[in-house]
Amino acid sequence: MRSQDIPENPLVTGVIQAYRFALAPTPEQDDLLRSHCGAQRYAYNWGLALAKAVMDQRQAETTYGIPDTGLTPPLNWSAYSLRKLWNHSKDDVAPWWGENSKEAYSSGLANLATALTNWNASKHGARRGPKIRFPRFKDKRRSMSCRFTTGSFGLADSDRRHVKLPRIGVVRTHESTRKLARHVERGTARIRSATITHHGGRWFCSLSVEIHRTDPAPARPASAVGVDLGVKSLAVLSTGEIITNPRHFDLAVPRLRRLQRQAARRSDPDRRTRRQPSQRWHRTRARIAKLHNAVANARRDSLHKLTTHLVRTHGTVVVEDLNVAGMLKNRRLARHVAGVGMGEFCRQLDYKTAWTGGTLHVADRWYPSSKTCSACGAVRTKLRLAERTFHCDECPLVLDRDLNAARNLAHLVVGFADGTSSPSCGATRNEPAGNPRQTRTARAAGIATGSPGPHPGQRRHRKETAASSTGTHTRFR
Ligand SMILES: [Zn+2]
Repeated sequence: MRSQDIPENPLVTGVIQAYRFALAPTPEQDDLLRSHCGAQRYAYNWGLALAKAVMDQRQAETTYGIPDTGLTPPLNWSAYSLRKLWNHSKDDVAPWWGENSKEAYSSGLANLATALTNWNASKHGARRGPKIRFPRFKDKRRSMSCRFTTGSFGLADSDRRHVKLPRIGVVRTHESTRKLARHVERGTARIRSATITHHGGRWFCSLSVEIHRTDPAPARPASAVGVDLGVKSLAVLSTGEIITNPRHFDLAVPRLRRLQRQAARRSDPDRRTRRQPSQRWHRTRARIAKLHNAVANARRDSLHKLTTHLVRTHGTVVVEDLNVAGMLKNRRLARHVAGVGMGEFCRQLDYKTAWTGGTLHVADRWYPSSKTCSACGAVRTKLRLAERTFHCDECPLVLDRDLNAARNLAHLVVGFADGTSSPSCGATRNEPAGNPRQTRTARAAGIATGSPGPHPGQRRHRKETAASSTGTHTRFR
């Protein structure tokens, strides 16, 4: 592949990445977008009702003592066969089907096929993670989305302000599509699918793109930086840099409280009396959603700025594996921890270090980064959360608590560079418990978005490129 002619710097990585654009549709296009999302939901619910009916029928027949061979045949829930069934019955159940692109129905049925497959795998223990419930019917107000995988979609040729969607036509975007357009024109990107979603009062078009990224290598490849994520400040770096916490949520709380009081005064839905919510209640809910959205956007932005700064500057980033789920259970910490977005921070670092050819080290959850002295290595037995300054028992060190922790994290990797062990020989993988040097090397993530994953060939290509161009890449599957 391309790996031979790639210069050592910058690094070219083949990844699957999403480009998401906020849309500014005309009222007619807005109707069409809604119609397509409705069509997707209709097909999904139709297929789900069918699957349920067949399953219930088979169960009833079993209770009557009908042998297995005499039962109603089970429903084949592959996307292909669901689509075939839909095409047989669409004239009867949805005579209006021609109003929307056929992709709308296909995407609903494909989603259903995935949901049923996941549920089935989970039920039979073939899938890791928490148990997956049987799919539920989609309701009108939530889950507004529709995916296009065939037909004419992508960037419009005219200018760099429009996307093209089947049947819906050319829709204006809020932001420029220039960056993606240039990739497409150069032939370094291929658009695989387009998904429209409605979220927080706005339409979005997310383009899934197979792309060869060119990222500058870190400015200081040999440097290792420890990052202590805090509550008081967003992060403290071992270099002494302090990134202040923007506290977007705290700033929005007064407005949020006001809106929630407003919603409480309005006629909300009531399940017992089956009261329908008023239009005014819906309007306030939309305002609340918009505010939450603004907070989430601001938070994402500051996190992206921080993680990009880290991977562009330092060759190695060391973070702590924080027990985020556990901290969220602590009532006093929960709001602040969730407000910083620690899980998202690590996720971004993971894929961004892969892009720049850097390394991400995740220190073990039990590594006492706060209790260890960064000057002499003595470990204190107790350190209350309220103690913001670290006083060493063994030496005269007095240091800010978070800075001390960040320096300890950086020392974890500096130790490797000293020659005690080489990162490329796999010493950074889990070692026996109790080892203070215990670190886990992050898994390679070739994608910027959670899904869909890259196909196997692509992932291998990226890893090869990364390894050949940096030499010290310590990522393991
Ligand atoms: Zn000390």
